[in-house]
Amino acid sequence: MRDQKKIAVIGAGPMGLACAYELLKNKHQVDIYEKDDRIGGMSASFNLDGINIERYYHFICRTDTPLFDLLKELNIFEELCWKKTKMGFFYDGVLYKWGNPIHLLTFPKLDFISKLRYALHVFFIGKVNNWDKLDQQNAISHLKKWVGYKAYTLLWECLFEYKFYEYKENISAAWIGTRIKRVAKSRTNIFTEQLGYLKGGSDTLLCALGNRILAMHGNIYLNTGVEEVTTINNHVQAIIVNGEKRFYDHVVSTIPLPFVTRLVPDLSVKIIEKIKGIANCSVVCVILKLRKALTENFWLNINDPEMEIPGLIEYSNLNPITEDSIIYVPFYMPKTHAKYTQDNALFIEEVLSYLNRINPAFTKEWVLAAHASRYEFAQPICSPNFYQQLPPIETDIKGFIMADTSSYYPEDRGISESIKMGQQLAQIIEN
Ligand SMILES: Cc1cc2nc3c(=O)[nH]c(=O)nc-3n(C[C@H](O)[C@H](O)[C@H](O)COP(=O)(O)OP(=O)(O)OC[C@H]3O[C@@H](n4cnc5c(N)ncnc54)[C@H](O)[C@@H]3O)c2cc1C
Repeated sequence: MRDQKKIAVIGAGPMGLACAYELLKNKHQVDIYEKDDRIGGMSASFNLDGINIERYYHFICRTDTPLFDLLKELNIFEELCWKKTKMGFFYDGVLYKWGNPIHLLTFPKLDFISKLRYALHVFFIGKVNNWDKLDQQNAISHLKKWVGYKAYTLLWECLFEYKFYEYKENISAAWIGTRIKRVAKSRTNIFTEQLGYLKGGSDTLLCALGNRILAMHGNIYLNTGVEEVTTINNHVQAIIVNGEKRFYDHVVSTIPLPFVTRLVPDLSVKIIEKIKGIANCSVVCVILKLRKALTENFWLNINDPEMEIPGLIEYSNLNPITEDSIIYVPFYMPKTHAKYTQDNALFIEEVLSYLNRINPAFTKEWVLAAHASRYEFAQPICSPNFYQQLPPIETDIKGFIMADTSSYYPEDRGISESIKMGQQLAQIIEN
């Protein structure tokens, strides 16, 4: 029998839970610490006007294998549903169908050559398996090279502007490439996109995982933020919660890395500098419950001079969680952006002022409930040469390992990738 170790996992998002579960399978003693009042992190849910719904929208792609394997292990694979989803493109006041070759060919605002170049780019990205070369390239230059200036401006510029602001010129082509590939691979054929969701949303996974952890005698401490990780002779010693020291053989951090620099003062200057070198965007995500559907689309890309958002997600067109329509509108921005200090009510007002432009029948009478969720470190900025920028998972403090959603670059943050990373963290402790 293996040595039983006493391990603290910091953070009860999908990564922390997946890590803890693996460690428990290997018969270790595991305590999970979560500062929030619930498990789930970015994938947690809340009550919106009587429905339990995710704070942020989540869709599943055909390539999310680590998620599928975990669903099977937890005996909840049958909760996974697939739906043919529609996409739209709201350009300059007109709603176009988008997302398959016919829509592309009939789109009147681009010439044939630009369309061909756009299609060739998606085909090329779908074939890339080694992202080393694209890691060294800038996303905007890469896109302009492939699709041309006109198609870039029309199809991509708004996304970069309203998601990254001053960071837009500093995004890795590998990062944007994996995003395009993940969605492109979630098709049954070139005409049909198929996305997945869990009946009951991400909570179905989180609850099953949380319950399995408790059944295996793991502990989950909610409302218990870790204040510090202490060391002795360059080895992890304890964590401090509520001013009290609790001793462990290993500590695994799955919280956003910028928090780690404050939590672990004994990390080397080199690692702290690396973490500080990674910028992040925050998100304010508006969620609306409407009496009627706004459009038929799940995903609506937007490029419109009167709207300062790159898109909206009509989640109920993927997951029919209620008879009403559920809309998410994420406002990503650096935390330093003046708009971030705005009240939630102003973000909600802004979204409501746009909806009538998309569907002229919309009136405020349709609104049954409105809410805005915030997450400080919602999107790491993965700049060119990001592989070199990443801090190591195994730190110079023995017994202390760390990862967050940037650690699985070039993949974008996602539940499946966080699960895989959680499993890898557990494996590191085993080795
Ligand atoms: C707007 C939006 C849309 C998204 N859409 C999708 C999608 O469609 N599909 C998809 O797969 N993924 C999507 N994601 C990403 C997905 O939600 C994340 O990848 C995933 O939840 C990350 O899990 P994690 O455990 O790695 O990190 P997190 O969810 O960030 O969890 C970290 C946890 O650590 C806790 N914590 C922080 N500090 C402390 C402390 N000091 N002590 C104790 N605990 C602490 C936090 O409260 C949190 O619970 C989306 C995210 C956002 C924001």
